[in-house]
Amino acid sequence: MNADADKRFLVAEIQRFCMRDGPGVRTTVFLKGCPLRCAWCHNPEMRGPGKQLLFYEKKCIYCASCELCKNGVHGFEGGRHVLDRTKCSACGYCVSVCPTGALEICGKEMTAREITAEVMRDAAFYGEKGGVTLSGGEPLLRKKSVSLLKTLKEAGLNTAVETCGFVDFGNISGAAKYVDLFLWDIKDTDPARHEKYTGVSNERIIANLKAADRLGAKTRLRCILVNGVNTDAAHYAAVAALLKSLENCEGVDVLPYHSYGGAKAEFIGLPDNGNDALIPSEEQIKEAKSVMTK
Ligand code: SF4
Ligand code: SF4
Repeated sequence: MNADADKRFLVAEIQRFCMRDGPGVRTTVFLKGCPLRCAWCHNPEMRGPGKQLLFYEKKCIYCASCELCKNGVHGFEGGRHVLDRTKCSACGYCVSVCPTGALEICGKEMTAREITAEVMRDAAFYGEKGGVTLSGGEPLLRKKSVSLLKTLKEAGLNTAVETCGFVDFGNISGAAKYVDLFLWDIKDTDPARHEKYTGVSNERIIANLKAADRLGAKTRLRCILVNGVNTDAAHYAAVAALLKSLENCEGVDVLPYHSYGGAKAEFIGLPDNGNDALIPSEEQIKEAKSVMTK
């Protein structure tokens, strides 16, 4: 194994037997930290770069064991458990004393070697197509992710990376040597609208995608469909034109918005901003697919 195998990563979650994160059966490793702030984020607990305390209010029995937190994060007011998260250092003490699993730390430090060993536990299920997918958060946010991909590749794994593309191009070109498929998010083709709903323009994302394509990187475009935001003919046509302009892109996946991420926001103390009105209709999905994948 390479010398970088002992580099450490903050892993938010490892999901097994995933069928939608690339070809075949895959194990998906979610890394913490993302440069975007999508209004419809489905993994809000993975956006922050550091460890983070999650609180599942429905599991809390108000036993007050967690009140012993040395930073005074936990309190009880008017029959409710309230948290002052600004004081939390994510030390994990309260998690260890909670009897019901109402508290959890999102973010576990693991070396590339440890992540690879964890992924290899499922090797018997991968078959010819399956393997590992890095997701997040944004897995290419840090340059050292290249060493993780190198370690996974040296273990003989098929590798995919789900990226928002808003990262240093050096991280992408470095990773490309060890990545079989980039799942490239195109959240919107309109730069102003992209900035409004994600916090950044899409210009760098598209430029990085085209540069990766020129390098020969194999990609699939992943297009979230959000009713009333990007469910318009001009966007569908722009995705189709983008697909046509790429030499090494194998196709487009249309992913309908769902409101599950909104509910997850509550676990990190943010309001549930899930909105079922943003779910596209079957007709919209059909129309988007028929134009985008032409
Ligand atoms: S993780 Fe540590 S600092 Fe944060 S609330 Fe729990 S005990 Fe307090
Ligand atoms: S220790 Fe767990 S169950 Fe008890 S009050 Fe704290 S969060 Fe709720």
